[in-house]
Amino acid sequence: MKPTSPTDFWDSLAAFANPVPHDLPGAMRALGIEVLRELSKPDSTEYLARCPAHLTLTGKQDRRPSFSVNSSTGLHHCFSCGYAGPFIQLVEDGLGYNRIEAFQWIVRHGVYRTVEDTGPAPQAEDAVRITEASLALFIPPPPEACARRHLTPEACGDFGVLWKPEKRRWILPIRDPHTCELWGWQEKGKRFFRNYPTGIHKAQTLFGDLTWTGDTALLLESPLDAVRAHGLGIPGAFASFGAHVSEAQMRLLQTRCRHLILGLDNDAAGRTARDKIHGRWRPRGLPMKFLDYSHTTAKDLGDMSDADALSAYENAHHPWRRRR
Ligand SMILES: [Zn+2]
Repeated sequence: MKPTSPTDFWDSLAAFANPVPHDLPGAMRALGIEVLRELSKPDSTEYLARCPAHLTLTGKQDRRPSFSVNSSTGLHHCFSCGYAGPFIQLVEDGLGYNRIEAFQWIVRHGVYRTVEDTGPAPQAEDAVRITEASLALFIPPPPEACARRHLTPEACGDFGVLWKPEKRRWILPIRDPHTCELWGWQEKGKRFFRNYPTGIHKAQTLFGDLTWTGDTALLLESPLDAVRAHGLGIPGAFASFGAHVSEAQMRLLQTRCRHLILGLDNDAAGRTARDKIHGRWRPRGLPMKFLDYSHTTAKDLGDMSDADALSAYENAHHPWRRRR
């Protein structure tokens, strides 16, 4: 039975984002591609099968499994005839579907995900061994530094924020989202910031209380804004370390909350990122609201008074109901 035309605009968008079915070998089987072997790699599995395009492309059947599909990226490849592409292409070719129909087929085969920037497992470029002891050089942030940024010392303590006294810089730990193991930190001063060690995969985690789960989370760009929100009593405040929010970070949020308030910066880059996230994740069942900036010219939560920051949070609105 052929799928009907798309009813949801967001589905049409998601169809072009390399969707991969949750049960990849099951979906391969449904396409008539039998998985003959599994090859485990450090961060993924290759499902090996006889190449479905071989006969068409070479005039011969594939005798040894030359064809494989990667569990992490959904990319398929035949090392013998060169037939390769994203998973959705396999569905299009196999069933004679167009892209939207192929997408709907993937949706009908269970939960799907889209593959974008799922990088390799975190690994630092520098051969520096980071342990909790690496933080021993830093101290709790002094009260006057906290006051300047409207941060409470308690909120800094809760989020493990530290201070590098000789440079007067904030130290914002970057931790494994599942084990809370220390990967490194972001060092932030006046018009200065760097991530340490170089090459740290900050896009694979979030800043905030990584053990928190609850109803509504708030996503901000800057770690210090998350500390600010936490100090104001806002639950589930997380930061993405910048306007680029990765697929991995969104998945981490989706497993921690049922609703998400997007509090990316009140500037062009922040708004673009916000709309993109909404377009990609709303169809995947994560209801979202936008932080309300209608009463302020502040660029982010950190630039607002306490009253304005709380109002921005409490008046968070649905995308299609922009206030004023
Ligand atoms: Zn082939």
